[in-house]
Amino acid sequence: MHFDLAQSRFVQTDLRPDAPAVVAAERTLSWRELQQAALAWCDAAIAHGIARDVPVIVRGHKEADFFVAMTGALMLGAPFVPIDTVYPDERMRRIARALGASVYFDARRASFDRFDWAGEGEPAPDRAQALREKNLAYVLFTSGTTGEPKGVQIGRESVQSLAEWMAADFGLGAAPVFLNQAPFSFDLSMYEVFGTLSSGGAIVMMSRAASLPGAAFIDKLALARVSAWVSTPSFAQQQLLDPRFAQAALPALNTFLFCGEMLPVSLARRLRARFPGARIINTYGPTEATVAATWIVVDDAVLAAHPERLPIGFARRGGEVFVEGGELCIAGPYVMRGYLNRADLNATRMFSREGERAFRTGDVGSVDADGLLFCHGRIDDQVKLHGYRIELAEIDAALAAMPGGVHAAAVPLRRTDGTVARIVAFVETGANDLRGAQLALPGDWRVRLGERLPPYMIPSELIPCRMLPLTVNAKIDRARLADDYLHSMTDTLVRSHGR
Ligand code: AMP
Repeated sequence: MHFDLAQSRFVQTDLRPDAPAVVAAERTLSWRELQQAALAWCDAAIAHGIARDVPVIVRGHKEADFFVAMTGALMLGAPFVPIDTVYPDERMRRIARALGASVYFDARRASFDRFDWAGEGEPAPDRAQALREKNLAYVLFTSGTTGEPKGVQIGRESVQSLAEWMAADFGLGAAPVFLNQAPFSFDLSMYEVFGTLSSGGAIVMMSRAASLPGAAFIDKLALARVSAWVSTPSFAQQQLLDPRFAQAALPALNTFLFCGEMLPVSLARRLRARFPGARIINTYGPTEATVAATWIVVDDAVLAAHPERLPIGFARRGGEVFVEGGELCIAGPYVMRGYLNRADLNATRMFSREGERAFRTGDVGSVDADGLLFCHGRIDDQVKLHGYRIELAEIDAALAAMPGGVHAAAVPLRRTDGTVARIVAFVETGANDLRGAQLALPGDWRVRLGERLPPYMIPSELIPCRMLPLTVNAKIDRARLADDYLHSMTDTLVRSHGR
């Protein structure tokens, strides 16, 4: 059995209906059980006003019912909006307001709930409203520079194209068993969602707590016979801490599928050594291009040819990836339909190329003589921390919105290979005497910030500074602040070492 994305329904194939489809911590669903649960979910959703083109927020973290709800939403033609519990309630409410949503599905309790908008100046609408864009598969909210998350609208044609690409080029076998650990609010996880549904394979969902490196994690993967590993490079890097993370303990694992951040050469080399029988696929792309837009199999020849920086490969079938003015651009049927209610951004970031939707990524790119594409980081202030996409300006905006309303700048501290190790924030105090300068923020700033931002966006420390430095273009000079921070750390180390 599998799910036909074009027809939005389950179809019988020679794959057994009692084979597992969804493996979660609390229960496993066979394909037949998934079908029954998705049909029952549709009935409950209709009773709560969900219908074709009406978005449905799904809230939770790795419950079997999260997957059931996404499948049911596809059957109904209602775009699903996945929101992991890593995000605070306040962020979900802001997303609900942007969508005009009055209810959400809580996968932890397997029930629908109404939004409580009381005290927020505007009442929740009585009925859920249809979106202007029709035939969407999902809307995924990513970090936004204004402080408001922005909704990426992905059409059903785009997820069909994703599934076709995976089936044609990834060599995953007849019924792949996917590792799923990325939150469903991170579009990397859509590889597993649409890969499982379209192939008739299985998804093995691992919660944050269950994904810590160690024997328990490996044993679960081995028991479920996971064949396709999907993660950011950072996540795989962490697992290397465990020496059992190797082919002998995971004999069924035949593919590593990476996306979301740069794949370091050193990581690819170590994985080749530990899993000689597995293929490593580096894919690149933003949420706006339905998970990924380019791909390359990183084998020994690729590693030998690119000892410093791995290429992101070639455009995936059906689309085009090119460099314009130094920026990577993507065109094809898998480019988003646009950001929800953001005509300003759509006007600057989207364009048309030979009749196809096209998108300017904001990534610096290059192409070599063989047509191989490379990604060299960002043009703007978007960063990746452990694979999470963060607009630094969103952290600035959250600091400004706190009592005390500080002018602050979030600053990424980078390792020598350019990856971000952590984020700190400089807070302008205006005081001349730095020693005496007090932060204008309340003592419980972490807690308050946590009401608005997910934990991974909260700066690890706040540093007072008299005035935030500006670049020649009058933008906050975050590079200089990072330099200042690193120099002050080095000075401290030298001083304590010399003592
Ligand atoms: P997201 O929308 O969270 O998937 O983040 C997309 C951004 O992550 C891209 O615009 C790139 O900056 C970065 N990214 C994704 N995949 C790769 C990759 N394979 N190599 C380098 N950077 C990547």
